[in-house]
Amino acid sequence: MVMPDQFAPALAYLDSIDPATEELIGRFEVTPAEELPRRLEHARRAQREWAALPVAERAKRLEALAGVFERRRREIAEVVTRENGKPLAEALFSDVLVSLDSIRWHARYAARILGEERVRHHNPIFKGKRARLVSEPYGIVAVIAPWNYPIAIPVTAAVPALAAGNAVIIKPSELVPWCGALLGELFDQAGLPVDMVQVIQGPGALGQALIEARPDKVVFTGSVASGQKVAEACGRRLIPSVLELGGKDAMIVLADADLEVASSGAVWGSCTNCGQACLSVERVYVEPGALERFTQLCVEKTKQLRLGPGLDPNVDVGPLIRRRQIERVERQLEDATRRGARILCGGRRRPDCGPLFFEPTVVSGVDSSMLLMQEETFGPVLAIQGVADGEEAVRLANESLFGLGASVWTRDRARGEAIARQLRSGSVMVNDVMSCYGITEAPHGGRAASGWGRTHSRFGLLEMAQVKYVASDLFPRGKKPWWFPYDAGVIELADGVFQALFGAKPAARWRGVRNAWCHYRERPH
Ligand code: NAD
Repeated sequence: MVMPDQFAPALAYLDSIDPATEELIGRFEVTPAEELPRRLEHARRAQREWAALPVAERAKRLEALAGVFERRRREIAEVVTRENGKPLAEALFSDVLVSLDSIRWHARYAARILGEERVRHHNPIFKGKRARLVSEPYGIVAVIAPWNYPIAIPVTAAVPALAAGNAVIIKPSELVPWCGALLGELFDQAGLPVDMVQVIQGPGALGQALIEARPDKVVFTGSVASGQKVAEACGRRLIPSVLELGGKDAMIVLADADLEVASSGAVWGSCTNCGQACLSVERVYVEPGALERFTQLCVEKTKQLRLGPGLDPNVDVGPLIRRRQIERVERQLEDATRRGARILCGGRRRPDCGPLFFEPTVVSGVDSSMLLMQEETFGPVLAIQGVADGEEAVRLANESLFGLGASVWTRDRARGEAIARQLRSGSVMVNDVMSCYGITEAPHGGRAASGWGRTHSRFGLLEMAQVKYVASDLFPRGKKPWWFPYDAGVIELADGVFQALFGAKPAARWRGVRNAWCHYRERPH
């Protein structure tokens, strides 16, 4: 296990806090911003050698990283639980397993996805060229990560970047410096070339300084407010970015849904990671025939959830990460009840469990005027609204500024998929929630305020590569007929070409070919 440096003077250090007790469990050195130019220089040097390796060789090296994760899975999960608070089972599934699956998938498929592709030109004018599409790395990819999935998010961003031949600089969240230090150690242990993956530790300002140091691409995951600053900073420097921002995921429960399963999905989807997930179920819209029973089941199941420190294997829900997170949940609940919503269970702090525990909560009678249905909650709250029918549910679901994920619950798969197509979001699951994040083939990302670009899947891998078109002329001695000098003959030639390519009838097209050929022969060669 990585041992935190023992309590050195505070300013140059990040505190690692156990959210289950609010105790200080370690201190980790902050990376001075002045070090960044040197860090980037080293990364560039390492990247040149790495990029020169064939993708298949890079993929083989990733297998070693998979081995490290496999061997140290329990210890990684324990560090995540200590610092983030989530139950150990969640750390194993959602941080370690998701990371490992991503590493293995890239090791297996990256070469195929990034391999050269022959271009078949459809236009006869260009049939005399042999062309290929070649994937090339950007150079240095900066990965700026949040605290809620402190291993899975940086790993699933860094691995495709590495597979595509980039060097990576990871800036983990300042709330999880122990996880950050562990990440650096895991990549080191995998035997990747020195400086290929560097972890720098510090607050948001260090993330900003990292962008100012001009990496070649930025993958940012975090809040909308920080994402806007990152987009601005990248825009000013014309650095391409992927932004994975907040969510306000809708769950639509149709009257014919299996309410036993749907209610369990709702309770898990709103309370896993103590509700602190970008893909959390935050708004539930239920058709009339299902509303009463669904709500009753959700309340029953929520009341059964056991709160406590995540290292206890019999705990379902851990603490929130910091006090400001609790205050945000309370502010939204207070606004909702003032506007007529009803708290059916929970809704209180649980100081008996620890300073950052909050009871899993079910709220009914909510509507779009409430902050609870507008802002990201990021806490263990299930807000249920009755709707007239599926159509109204779709309209309300699409009202949000966010567009990350959504789910539809029904026994009628065709209807579920039809509704899924109408929802404005990056992913939609029918009869499941959130597991898309753990499915490496599923592109992850949002629309509107949830950001742009994709991580995971071949789309996430292709985000990490620049495509280059390389073409060789098979007849290099001929000059092109559209080059200088221009004269009336070129115009005639162009007319012939237009006719030949786009003429309405075969006869017109043949006439075009003949005319073009005549004028082509008269051009200087
Ligand atoms: P945050 O925006 O506070 O911080 C995220 C990271 O950005 C941290 O490392 C932080 O130090 C850094 N940062 C802050 N300001 C910066 C700046 N100006 N320039 C560069 N870096 C800066 O977010 P958080 O509280 O750590 O995470 C919670 C948020 O992340 C939620 O909104 C959640 O929905 C979102 N999130 C989104 C996804 C997704 O995939 N869409 C996944 C997880 C979390």
